[in-house]
Amino acid sequence: MSAIRLVMLGPPGSGKGTQAKFISRDNNIPQISTGDLLRAAINKDTEIGRRANEYMNTGNLVPDDIVLQLLKERLTQEDCQAGFILDGYPRNIIQAHDLEKICDIDLVINIDVDQGLIIERITGRRTCKKCEAIFHVKYHQPQREGICDKCGGPLYQREDDTEETVKKRLITYKNETIPLIEYYNQKKKLRTLVSDGTIEDMRQKVTHLLSTTFSF
Ligand code: ADP
Ligand code: ZN
Repeated sequence: MSAIRLVMLGPPGSGKGTQAKFISRDNNIPQISTGDLLRAAINKDTEIGRRANEYMNTGNLVPDDIVLQLLKERLTQEDCQAGFILDGYPRNIIQAHDLEKICDIDLVINIDVDQGLIIERITGRRTCKKCEAIFHVKYHQPQREGICDKCGGPLYQREDDTEETVKKRLITYKNETIPLIEYYNQKKKLRTLVSDGTIEDMRQKVTHLLSTTFSF
């Protein structure tokens, strides 16, 4: 099988990270989340992390050059040879052009979700400090409150997962990321999946799409 290079597109809280993780595991390709890369840089208190922090906490996009630098470093690692799934990149047209200069993309999966659901999904979200696993206070509770099922790390609420910042992130998504839908549609790379059921329902839709697009 040749490499598959995927992009996950969707608003914050669409569950794209969750689905990207499934795709990653099922197809043995790394999930590359620019949000995770940025949070790792912040935790390590690197120069990039310090620059990125204020943008993230106010629901804005981190400047393109910073994210591109992180992405390039990640893509040169050995495990990306067999393909990858980009989760959260590109997020605007400039980034889409940047990406084109680095590599070809086979397919863009666009997750479409009712905006009304997003605020509740995100403000109830809890993230593992250690492994970035995601839980929800109502829809996906960990076995022990505040503790990650996967690695035992502490769960926390991301600073940008508050209602005010989520609203700003949705505006950012609308202004900057939505144009990518048309962009990839014109390139005949886009497939849209509506998220209106459970995580497992969505997983099946994604699996079906991949199996009909690529002949594994
Ligand atoms: P979500 O998709 O739920 O918003 P992410 O973890 O993907 O969560 O992103 C969190 C924040 O990280 C974004 O609001 C933004 O500030 C920053 N970020 C992530 N990816 C990018 C990117 N490709 N370009 C610019 N900023 C980014
Ligand atoms: Zn964990």
